[in-house]
Amino acid sequence: MIIFGTRGIKSTIKEGQFLCPQCANNQRYKHKKVTKFFTLYFIPLIPLGSAGEFVECQRCKGTFISRVLDFDPAKSKDQFQSQYEKAMRHSMILMMLADGHIDDEELNIVEKIINKFGHNDISRSDLDQLIEEVEANNEPVQKYLSKIAPSLNEHGKEIIIKCGLAVASADGHIDDSEMVLIFEMAKAMEMSSSHVKGITQDIGTKRPAFSQN
Ligand SMILES: [Zn+2]
Repeated sequence: MIIFGTRGIKSTIKEGQFLCPQCANNQRYKHKKVTKFFTLYFIPLIPLGSAGEFVECQRCKGTFISRVLDFDPAKSKDQFQSQYEKAMRHSMILMMLADGHIDDEELNIVEKIINKFGHNDISRSDLDQLIEEVEANNEPVQKYLSKIAPSLNEHGKEIIIKCGLAVASADGHIDDSEMVLIFEMAKAMEMSSSHVKGITQDIGTKRPAFSQN
């Protein structure tokens, strides 16, 4: 009697360090490939092709799809930072434009906010150019905010709303059109309207956070 069959044989393609999703820190991994073999008397003889690959954490022994090796925390932090910057610039400039005209006070505050929360300082002429771009592109406020929202905690979302309120109230009063935009921003970040009202009342009793310095 001839005994034959198939068997998957694992081999290591690569080893190194990776951010293990299960351990949530850097660990050694082995990137393994499974090759299916034709066996005769349980001895693998003929490779039949790849049966897949996976990444194995050497500490928790968890196995993951190969894509986990692409995740680069430094790169993803940079990406978040640039998206955050984009969202902040975009929403603050829209807020400045919401009442139909641009005041010096508004320009000052927007410049301060962008430079406080951004990575690269901008000048007044940079800001003028950004304003032109925002006006020309005419994109809704949700566009960038909704991308960063999942990475923000409540505090992070409140900061953006407070900045928006600071810009809105720069000329001494918050118009309806500005309040509409505040609620749109909040909606894009999945904040409840009662949460926003709470923040607004908070701001109303104090001076806006950015008007003093
Ligand atoms: Zn692990």
